Amino acid sequence: MCKTSVLSVSAAKAPFKKSTIERRQLRPDDVSIDIKFSGICHSDIHSAHGDWAGGIFPMVPGHEITGIVKAVGERVTKFTVGDRVGVGCYVDSCGKCEYCLRGEEQYCAKGYVATYNSLDYEGNPTYGGYSQNIVVKESFVVHIPDGMELDVASPLLCAGITTYSPLKRWNAGPGKRVAILGMGGLGHVAIQFAHAMGAEVTVLSRAKNKENEALRFGADHYFSTLDPETFNALAGRFDLILNTVSASIDVDLYLSLLRVDGTLVNVGAPAEPSQYHVFSLILSRRSIAGSLVGGLPETQEMLDFAAEHGIAPQIEVIRAEQVDEAYERILHSDVRYRFVIDISTL
Ligand code: NAP
Ligand code: ZN
Ligand code: ZN
Repeated sequence: MCKTSVLSVSAAKAPFKKSTIERRQLRPDDVSIDIKFSGICHSDIHSAHGDWAGGIFPMVPGHEITGIVKAVGERVTKFTVGDRVGVGCYVDSCGKCEYCLRGEEQYCAKGYVATYNSLDYEGNPTYGGYSQNIVVKESFVVHIPDGMELDVASPLLCAGITTYSPLKRWNAGPGKRVAILGMGGLGHVAIQFAHAMGAEVTVLSRAKNKENEALRFGADHYFSTLDPETFNALAGRFDLILNTVSASIDVDLYLSLLRVDGTLVNVGAPAEPSQYHVFSLILSRRSIAGSLVGGLPETQEMLDFAAEHGIAPQIEVIRAEQVDEAYERILHSDVRYRFVIDISTL
């Protein structure tokens, strides 16, 4: 066992405090990582605030982890000491079910082990990236491409793969009209991926002052969701809407923006159930879908694609003592566009 410093919350909505936890002894297939940066995902807030059922406290959030390999177990083959690596939203899965075998470990039939706020298969709580060190099975660690800074890379481990995976699956590409709903941490990366994949990209946002940045990220059009005219102007237009909003949306209203056979894919994960009228689907053979992060092979593919296409999250690096303030700012959509904790300040 090895002690490591962390930022933790003792209960839902409690402030962050510095404390220590024990990381497990290195197993033969484990990698020990000195964490350099940890992005703040809105899911960290949902979890630490107890929005979703089943919070395990004390909690150390963080699943956008980048760092340097400090030690490797004797059977590790993919990594050596000093490698630049990343860890995303989960750290174990059964490895045997049909989903694990095809590299979609996030849908593991046994249930994956999340990077934090989860129990591992021995029943021990997992603790995430707001921490100086983490020990992870090598098959759940990815390489950060050369030339990509570790702070900039960290949001790709969740925001990146969560948007890349559904954009690819629903064929965002040349000739496709894709709308990105919500321009926060996920949304601003989604714009870049959809553009790089060759789609015509429209951003739908409440904000009045994000248009120039949206166009810089590769959007072709920008519309305000607070202007009722938007919904008349864009009726029946999109092949795909990727919903990244952290709160409930008016599903029927957004379905009306899809063409025949269009799909509304939800990655935003508000706690409340949503409602829609079946006629919104029936009359234009539309679909509603959801998507959870992405598998390990696809995560490596996404990082390599990002490096190749110059895709980079726009980040604001903060110190450990600023995390509570950062959570408040995210809740007020006052972030451009991802906070990343500099773990050396912990
Ligand atoms: P974020 O940075 O806070 O961005 C969310 C955006 O949603 C905001 O920037 C805002 O965009 C819009 N928004 C927020 N509140 C709204 C409201 N009341 N009404 C309308 N729009 C609102 O959050 P994030 O880190 O991108 O995460 C977004 C959601 O995805 C969260 O629910 C998170 O838990 C979920 N998530 C899911 C997965 C998955 O695997 N499915 C993975 C990661 C995160 P505008 O200001 O542009 O309107
Ligand atoms: Zn996340
Ligand atoms: Zn499995």
